[in-house]
Amino acid sequence: MQKNELVNLTIEDLSYQAMGVAHHEGLTIFVNNALPGEVVEAKILKVKKTFAFAKIEKLVKASPYRITVKLNQWVQTGLASLAHLQYDQQLVFKRQQVVNLLHKAGMDQIKVDETLASPEQTGYRNKAQVPVRKIKGQLEIGFFRRRSHDLVPLTNFFTTDPEIDRVLISVRDILRKYRVPAYDEIHNRGQVRYLDVRRSKATGEIMVILVCRQQKFPQLDQVTKDISKLAHVKSVILNYNPDKTNVILGKRDFVLAGQDHIMDKIGDLNFKISPQSFFQINSRQTPRLYQLAIDKADLHPDDVVIDAYAGIGTIGLSVAKHVKAVRGMETIKPAVDDANYNARLNGIENAKYVVGKAEEIMPQWAKAGLKTDVIFVDPPRKGLTPEFIQAAVKTGPKEIVYISCNPATQVRDLQEFQELGYEFDEISPVDMFPQTPHVESVTVLERTEK
Ligand code: SAH
Repeated sequence: MQKNELVNLTIEDLSYQAMGVAHHEGLTIFVNNALPGEVVEAKILKVKKTFAFAKIEKLVKASPYRITVKLNQWVQTGLASLAHLQYDQQLVFKRQQVVNLLHKAGMDQIKVDETLASPEQTGYRNKAQVPVRKIKGQLEIGFFRRRSHDLVPLTNFFTTDPEIDRVLISVRDILRKYRVPAYDEIHNRGQVRYLDVRRSKATGEIMVILVCRQQKFPQLDQVTKDISKLAHVKSVILNYNPDKTNVILGKRDFVLAGQDHIMDKIGDLNFKISPQSFFQINSRQTPRLYQLAIDKADLHPDDVVIDAYAGIGTIGLSVAKHVKAVRGMETIKPAVDDANYNARLNGIENAKYVVGKAEEIMPQWAKAGLKTDVIFVDPPRKGLTPEFIQAAVKTGPKEIVYISCNPATQVRDLQEFQELGYEFDEISPVDMFPQTPHVESVTVLERTEK
């Protein structure tokens, strides 16, 4: 098989990255935007030893679940690469990802629930991070084409709160008005790299972060003034990121106008959010995710609870009033400061958060003889480490509630817990990211009585 060759393919499956999967001449072929059951004439883009990439040249037979997407760019970019699949089938796809991973791990007996649908399927994101680049002489915002850094200009970000889209466009126009140079990543020149905008659906407060290559530039004062005049903008921040890097945010933030944070709510609780703090992006689905995790946990008033990978303490503070004590850890210091502040703000006196890596703090706590009853973990995509898992088990919890944004590492870690005397019998997928292939899942491990 060669590049540019045309082949007829029947799509058998959908990969975890939302690509159609077919087989041809002993190779696995990943076809952009193709759906299971479809027959396509595909053009080969790239050939490797055991697999190849292709794109649809002609859709010979369409899936009954394919839907017409208003803007092709949503599917072409990483913004919403599943938008062409009917929503109920997106939920089926997400559940199937978990089923497949369990099957591979030899754990077919585990029950996988139906995926909990998101209350909003578009416009659900409370935050957008969009690249700024110069295209045909003009500063544009948009999204990168999948697996590339080619900016596709956009003004409707589809999965983002439409109020945020409006702010993004206004800020783009302000940058154009004052002729602020867009970032040029090839030469590491220019100025504005990304716009990062957050908006609370509960309070309406908006934070605008300009991710810039330099701390100061001639137009900055005028730009700041205009942005701070936009309705509901409570915080304007410059994030300083001078390096030639793919990482979006640099380490340092400077307040240009207003506050250094915005306020949001989850359920009855108020939360302060700083620029570098993680906050769940699907505001309406988050309380449902947490409630599911809390309902599955068997919490008692004298329980000692750990909130690991805590962010700004949203999970721990949601359970604090029902238990004796909450302790948590998180690597980002401003997030930990937010978590402790949020505890006080909500009149919670039995929760305390510390800065550090979970895999280092947990062994220290275990060594110091800490006994726990329930541990909540909510790690990033790479999951837990063996050090963390061993230390967590040493503190003797009756339950470990595992919230994951990557079922592949979750299943790996669950096997490790099983070897250390913990059992689980079901996993609940939750859709936090409609129109994308991302799967969130919750499971509860219980200590087997010895
Ligand atoms: N539980 C929170 C945050 C989950 S996101 C919520 O629901 O909002 C995962 C968090 O883990 C992020 O805030 C990230 O900064 C933090 N993190 C990443 N690596 C970590 C590590 N090794 N130890 C502790 N926290 C870590």
